[in-house]
Amino acid sequence: MAFDETGKIWFNGELIDWKDAQIHVMSHVVHYGSSVFEGLRCYDTEKGPAVFRLKDHMQRLENSAKVYRMDIPYTLDEMCEAVKDTININNIRSCYIRPIVFRGYQELGVYPLNCPIETVIGVWAWGQYLGEDALEQGIDVCTSSWRKMAPDTMPNLAKAGSNYMNSQLAKIEATSNGYKESILLNYNGDVAEGTGENVFFVENGELYTPDIGSSVLKGITRDTVITIAKDLGYKVHEERIPRERLYTADEVFFTGTAAELSPIRSIDKIQIGKGKRGPVTKKIQEHLFDVLNNKVEDKYGWLDFI
Ligand code: PMP
Repeated sequence: MAFDETGKIWFNGELIDWKDAQIHVMSHVVHYGSSVFEGLRCYDTEKGPAVFRLKDHMQRLENSAKVYRMDIPYTLDEMCEAVKDTININNIRSCYIRPIVFRGYQELGVYPLNCPIETVIGVWAWGQYLGEDALEQGIDVCTSSWRKMAPDTMPNLAKAGSNYMNSQLAKIEATSNGYKESILLNYNGDVAEGTGENVFFVENGELYTPDIGSSVLKGITRDTVITIAKDLGYKVHEERIPRERLYTADEVFFTGTAAELSPIRSIDKIQIGKGKRGPVTKKIQEHLFDVLNNKVEDKYGWLDFI
């Protein structure tokens, strides 16, 4: 079992037993995917457990909810406190955190606004999402035959549960063909992102990533890496990226809360650079882990100690 079922879940303001955190099968979210959510991590630093960019994640949750006209009945500060309370009561020092806001049980027409808004936070221990070797060895990925949603179909900047039906198609395609992950193109045929990661490449010592109009999620790790890279003296370009630029790049990597920073060693069986983690990736990755684990000064105030 992936979860510690002895733990507690924050459910509409109350901390209840894991096994009691249930909803009705006729809830709106079960039928129509009516949810928005977040994914954060808490790191066990030498100064104690710290949640990375808590407020930024909760702000993105609020923004996602706003797009879908969901009124979260808690303030940003209350949501931040709730995350900390959930970690505290579960007595866990290092974990993945999943706040989710969804439409509950009332009626089952597509029209959602009469259904109650439910707010839940769960935490569990979760290791490296793409495998322990991924951080050092890099992973083999493919370009998906599934595209990201066009901007006038489903909003990619809102982190909605239903977006992940698209991600699931691409993930299943990748794994059934022997790859670890997919890179999806957008409706223009340009590079968008992975099924749960943003993508970067390095060319002549400069970094490139799709701009936020490229049908991507505005990743918080993406922003962290852009900030770190600039601090380390690298130029960072956010722009439209044709697929073939990834094939000819010196280095390519994924970023995400779950995936952290994972090098990509091949795409569609084309070797990227030397086919292993490149020097720029290594430097930024090491710095990122130093920041996450509070081994360097937290100059942007990104760590929220429990
Ligand atoms: N893109 C998608 C589709 C994602 O699901 C995620 C994970 N939340 C990311 C990018 C990376 O975002 P973040 O760095 O905020 O976790």
